[in-house]
Amino acid sequence: MTNHISRRNFMNAVGVSSVGVTAAAVGDGFSNTANAQMNRKPVEQATLVSVEKPAGASHTFVTKNDGRVTIQVLDGPEGLILVDSGDAPQYAAEARAFAESLGKPIAAVLISHDHPDHTGGLPAYSGLPIFTTSGIITNISNGPFPKPDNLSEIQVLDDMEVNLAGLNLRIHNYKDAEAAEQIVIEAPEMDTAIVQDLVYNNAYFFPGLNRENWISVLGDLRDKLEVETLLVGHGYPASQGELTAAIDYLTEYNEMLAASANPEELVAKMKQRWPRRMADGILGLQGFAFRG
Ligand SMILES: [Zn+2]
Repeated sequence: MTNHISRRNFMNAVGVSSVGVTAAAVGDGFSNTANAQMNRKPVEQATLVSVEKPAGASHTFVTKNDGRVTIQVLDGPEGLILVDSGDAPQYAAEARAFAESLGKPIAAVLISHDHPDHTGGLPAYSGLPIFTTSGIITNISNGPFPKPDNLSEIQVLDDMEVNLAGLNLRIHNYKDAEAAEQIVIEAPEMDTAIVQDLVYNNAYFFPGLNRENWISVLGDLRDKLEVETLLVGHGYPASQGELTAAIDYLTEYNEMLAASANPEELVAKMKQRWPRRMADGILGLQGFAFRG
């Protein structure tokens, strides 16, 4: 497929000589240049994981920062869809350069929710058509997190059934779960749904806002989604069984939280129960679970 050739060319362009079939490290050159320009502390390069389907491929950039946050690229028949921007413009610049190397137009960038680890890279998407719901735009605008300086470029996505890049997408909108509002993008023709932060795959979960509702949202998705592959907000691509794993995690987490006097005790229990999960940085956010 042309995807393979284009991807290999991209890897060569950034100086990576060995390319795996499904995963490869990319982006050193871009990151270092961007770091120098932005005077940020260096970020490690992202890992790229591709899932090939008969109808097209998805490509997931998994950052190697403390959160293992992702940027998704869906390769549709008539173009590309990017989802989220990572926490820093370096990663979004890598994802954009990769997408542009595929030789198709970027039909849309979709933003799954307002949290800064998914919106911090938006300045690197300047000039692209960026969409999310009016509620998520409001949350980005009014929330406590730093605003991307191209906030005014974000357009309202109000259709929950939309054709982008030649793909018929179903958008599912959920409130008061991991974030105040978040969208799930289902692409039935690609047998794939982008659930972003409703599922953390082999990573510690952010405590979110309303875990009881979050669990019921996951149950709703388990009933509704007619796809096998899930692209998640933190960690590598997963299968739909990960919805059940997430329900189990959150249920057990709630019990752990109820039995913990403070964040330190909770984190100690989490590390003991799930010693091999990624995204240690999210352990530092467990204090959110203790807020009244
Ligand atoms: Zn996140």
